[in-house]
Amino acid sequence: MQETSCNKVVKTPPPLKSTRNYCLWCTINQPKEIRLCPSGDCPLYPFRFGKKPRYETILTPLLAIRERCKDCSVYELERIRNCPFDGKQEEKCDLYDYRMGKNPNRSQIGGNPLFKKHNSTPKIE
Ligand code: SF4
Ligand code: SF4
Repeated sequence: MQETSCNKVVKTPPPLKSTRNYCLWCTINQPKEIRLCPSGDCPLYPFRFGKKPRYETILTPLLAIRERCKDCSVYELERIRNCPFDGKQEEKCDLYDYRMGKNPNRSQIGGNPLFKKHNSTPKIE
């Protein structure tokens, strides 16, 4: 998620859409090149069309993005965390918001509020 100058919150495109955008960047906007991509070992390969593939995959789109970021950062966690392609230092990478393997659009969703630390009932002594 990103806040614009007029304080409007812009949602990050979903992981599959971000993957497609990244593949378009990778091929300099050549959809045909994405279709013919020879890098079958790229973690994003099954998701390069921006859709869930018809076959079973080991990775989810989010985990595939995480793996791509590991490749990109030579498996150094600090480099992924401090990736400069955040839209401020450098042009924003389409995978940036998902680089830590979490979906920022879902940060407020899920979980049982009763089990959340700040909502836990006080101990009775
Ligand atoms: S699957 Fe990987 S190598 Fe192929 S276009 Fe996408 S990012 Fe590039
Ligand atoms: S978000 Fe950063 S680490 Fe991940 S692929 Fe993009 S440039 Fe590489």
